[in-house]
Amino acid sequence: MKKLDLHWKILIGMILGLLFGFAMTYVSGGRGFVQDWINPFGTIFVKLLKLIAIPLILASLIKGISDLKDISKFRRIGLRTILIYVCTTVVAITIGLVLVNILQPGEGISDDTIAKLTQTYASDSGVVSKIEEASKQKERPLGFLEDMVPDNAIGAMSDNSLMLQVIFFTIFLGISMLLIGEERAKPLKHFFDSLNFVVLKMVDLIMLTAPYAVFALLANVVASSGDPDLLLALLKYAGVVVLGLFLMIIFYGLVVSSYTKKNAFWFLKEISPAQLLAFSTSSSAATLPVTMERVEEHIGVDKEVSSFVLPVGATINMDGTSLYQGVAAVFIAQALAFDLALVDQLKIVLTALLASIGSAAVPGAGMVMLVIVLESIGFPPEKLAIGLALIFAVDRPLDMCRTIINVTGDATVSMVVAKSVGKLGEPHIEEWDDHYDEV
Ligand code: ASP
Repeated sequence: MKKLDLHWKILIGMILGLLFGFAMTYVSGGRGFVQDWINPFGTIFVKLLKLIAIPLILASLIKGISDLKDISKFRRIGLRTILIYVCTTVVAITIGLVLVNILQPGEGISDDTIAKLTQTYASDSGVVSKIEEASKQKERPLGFLEDMVPDNAIGAMSDNSLMLQVIFFTIFLGISMLLIGEERAKPLKHFFDSLNFVVLKMVDLIMLTAPYAVFALLANVVASSGDPDLLLALLKYAGVVVLGLFLMIIFYGLVVSSYTKKNAFWFLKEISPAQLLAFSTSSSAATLPVTMERVEEHIGVDKEVSSFVLPVGATINMDGTSLYQGVAAVFIAQALAFDLALVDQLKIVLTALLASIGSAAVPGAGMVMLVIVLESIGFPPEKLAIGLALIFAVDRPLDMCRTIINVTGDATVSMVVAKSVGKLGEPHIEEWDDHYDEV
């Protein structure tokens, strides 16, 4: 049988899933069938990816830090990473704001459509829960710092939403290992090195099922999507977000080719399995194991860099999400005739930047933080549900698209940081490792 690259297989799975899900919306009982009999396979796949996310962070971050052999190198990589992440996020928000101000997708939206969207979604449990979640997260100016420090290491590892706490604990452990010296840290280092290999093998095994899993995931997204008329009404808004995300891909391509001197198309091709999974799962956290594997083995970023840059990026760097938040906030303001001054737009830049750090890397998280962005510009609280109702119908597809950018942004920054410290080498696919490309 002709060998097909993994990304093609995943793409075929996605297209078939889309078609199947679409067809099932026309069959009586079809939606229920997809929900009961197809969706579980997608869910199992996502659970498997999440299952290995914490062991992977633990093993690879400790390996990465202890391989550095000296603290000053770690400090250099750490500072650089955070700085570049902030820059890419500001670029993303700026692109979003410029587009939404020029194209004004909220201006033409009719009162009729607003009424229909409000009726359908303002009291939807999805919208209500987003507002409730957001109100829990705000009003603690240093809450982000406080939440980052765990008071129970095992507790932090037992909850995927506490990834930042796991990263904190792991960095702390890794630095302490560096400080006690190579000899004394050796047994622990060997243990984590070995765990790292095992977890990467687990990624491989899980990826064998990826083409089938994305079929199930996409069939379910399509079969459970809402009223197509309302989706169409939001086409202009969705178009602005997608255009912005596309410009971000071009931006990453330019950064990769100009700074790292690698071919941008090659980069996009090598990272594409992670992008396709990001699209199918809407979760950077679930995609993390695959992003790491692609970046390390297929792109050539040294583990010392990727093992720090990628887990941190998955949790704090969300370029796609912050671009979307900028566009969505201004779109809602335009549609509901809420005037925005220039200073409000600057506030959006700042809060969307902080929100992207604070957003969890899971489906729909960006919309929770959008509430906080809207509140920062003085959007009336009683109108929040209406504002979110306006964009709710297309949120899932946009979430899928923005997650691609979140993941691609992390991969790009890992290349830039690696290049800047001389750790960007050639791809080196482990021999026992590349079989999934051939199955
Ligand atoms: N789903 C996104 C992610 O996991 C976050 C969001 O924008 O909702 O990266």
